[in-house]
Amino acid sequence: MPAVSSFVSGLASQAAESEPFTKGLLQSLRNEIMSTPLGTFVKNADLSPVERELVADAWQGAERAFCFQSNFPVGAAIRAVNADGQSKVFIGCNVENDSFAATICAERNAATTAVAEGYTRFTHVAVVCKKYPGGSPCGLCRQVLRQFGCDAVLLNICDRESNVRRATVGELLPAPSGVVVPFAMLNQSDRMLVERALKEANLAHIPYSKKARGAVACASNSAGCKRRFAGTQIDNASYGGSMSAERAAMAAAVSNGFNKIDKLAVVGANAIDGECLQVLREFGGLEAEVIFIGADKSIVRTTVAKLLPDSFGPECL
Ligand SMILES: [Zn+2]
Repeated sequence: MPAVSSFVSGLASQAAESEPFTKGLLQSLRNEIMSTPLGTFVKNADLSPVERELVADAWQGAERAFCFQSNFPVGAAIRAVNADGQSKVFIGCNVENDSFAATICAERNAATTAVAEGYTRFTHVAVVCKKYPGGSPCGLCRQVLRQFGCDAVLLNICDRESNVRRATVGELLPAPSGVVVPFAMLNQSDRMLVERALKEANLAHIPYSKKARGAVACASNSAGCKRRFAGTQIDNASYGGSMSAERAAMAAAVSNGFNKIDKLAVVGANAIDGECLQVLREFGGLEAEVIFIGADKSIVRTTVAKLLPDSFGPECL
């Protein structure tokens, strides 16, 4: 991607010297470049019979969507294998709820149905956004899908002719990679950021996960003021009710009116889950920086664009 990166930096320097209107246009172009669709375009006629059938099943799922709030029907179909080697297709649709947090996406609906029947190894996943084909799975769904089939073939239906972009589920949530910087090479501001995140990790309530995580969100408000908000891992006896350090830090920022998250520093395993990335996508966009802090305080710098490629964001609705 070096060619794209240098072009994008070129746009940034041009934008700095331009009128706000031009800057806006350049920003849109920049986002467009950075959200290039994943996978290879394949015409429906060139799909295998198994793939073509799964694509039709995904459309069928979208017809059953219960989406009275978003009016954004999504369908998913997963082909999975059980312990006896039998293969079966499971169809899902998005099911919304009066409580926003209780809403489930089509992909996770199909995934949990498959697992409940003992089909825990996914081989193929087809997804379609009925209104605007081409939308990609959200971070939460990426996290769940990769648990059961990192190598599964992903068929993202990209138009009404049922042509697809073919990739793998693993490509939706790639392993972190970026620039590694030793602690001693950091500037004073970033050193303080690292120390604060480490302190937060020591406050973690982790009787169940046993994973001490801490995070700091660097955010700005509408007046351009910048502030840091810290969060720690908070486990709950109802595992689903647990709050990750990253989400706690971002929630604190937004709750205080600091809605633009520029940077998120994380202490813990060298990874950030799909759900947290989806939250960062909402408030930081593709360019938000993610800093992983290792045990020896060395850090890896990367971005949402790299960790959540071709992602689903506010502009997709
Ligand atoms: Zn989803």
